[in-house]
Amino acid sequence: MNVPSRVKVFAWRACKNGLPTLQNLKTRKFVKEATCEWCKEDDEDTDHALLSCKTAREVWAALLPEVTRDASHKSLLDIAMQIQFRGNNGDLEKLFLIAWGVCQKPNGGKAMCRWLPSEQGMLKLNVDGAVFASQQRAGVGVILRDDKGEVILSACKKENDINDHLEIELIAILRGLQICLPLGIPQLVIESDSLLLVDEIQNDKAPRSLHGNLVTQIKQLMQRLQKCFIQHSGRLGNSVAHGMARHAWNVDDLVTWWGSYPHCIAQVIWSDSML
Ligand SMILES: [Zn+2]
Repeated sequence: MNVPSRVKVFAWRACKNGLPTLQNLKTRKFVKEATCEWCKEDDEDTDHALLSCKTAREVWAALLPEVTRDASHKSLLDIAMQIQFRGNNGDLEKLFLIAWGVCQKPNGGKAMCRWLPSEQGMLKLNVDGAVFASQQRAGVGVILRDDKGEVILSACKKENDINDHLEIELIAILRGLQICLPLGIPQLVIESDSLLLVDEIQNDKAPRSLHGNLVTQIKQLMQRLQKCFIQHSGRLGNSVAHGMARHAWNVDDLVTWWGSYPHCIAQVIWSDSML
C-alpha cells in the first residue's frame, strides 16, 4: 500500500483490534462505560467507531459508498480482504485513508483520538486533581508532552488541606505551572478537564469563585511565559493526567519523572499516542 506509515500502522491495528476504542479501554479498566459518545446507540468497538457509527456512515456514504452497503455485516478486515481479492490496490489505500480520517476528524466520527499533540513548537501540559476522601488528602498529576506526543516530564504530588474538587483542580494547574516555569518553556498550552475553571481563567474579569486568589496566581504565572493559554479537554483527553493524580496516593510529597512516567499509566500513554 502506498500510504503514509502512520496510516499503515493504523490499518494494522484496526484489523487486529488494537485501537484505543472505548471497548478496549473498558477491557483494560480505564473506563467504566463503553457506550459510544457520539451516537449513544451502541458500544464503541473498532467496527462501530470506524464503520457503523452514524457519523462514520455519513463519511463512507460520501467517499466510498460500497462500504456503507457492506458495513452492517462485515468488519473492516473483511472489507479490506474483499477489496484486495479484487486486486484493486487503489481502493484498498482509499479504504484505510478514509478509515484513518474517520478517526482523526475532530468533529467527525473520531471518538478515539481524545488527546491531541499541541501545534508545532508548543508544549502541552495536561493537569488533573484527585481527592482521596478516606485519607482527607488529595493529589495532583501533571504531564508535559511536546508537539509529537513525546513525554518531557510527568509528576505527581500529594496535597494537604484541600476543601473541594475545584480547589484541587486549580492547585493542579498551579503546580503544573510551577514545575514548568523554571524550565524556560516559551510556549505552553495547558489542558484541564474542568470547564468551569478553564472559563474562569480565560476570562479577563476579576475571578468570582471561592478560590479567586488561586485563579489570580495562575494568571500571573501564565503571563511569565512568552505564549501561554489554557483550554478545556474532555475527560478522556485528560486521562494520563488523571492517572498521574491518582498515583499521587502512592507518593509522600512530589515525585517527578524526567522524560518518563510511572509504569501504571503506560497503557493510557499508549492509547493517547495511537493516532
Ligand atoms: Zn456511535
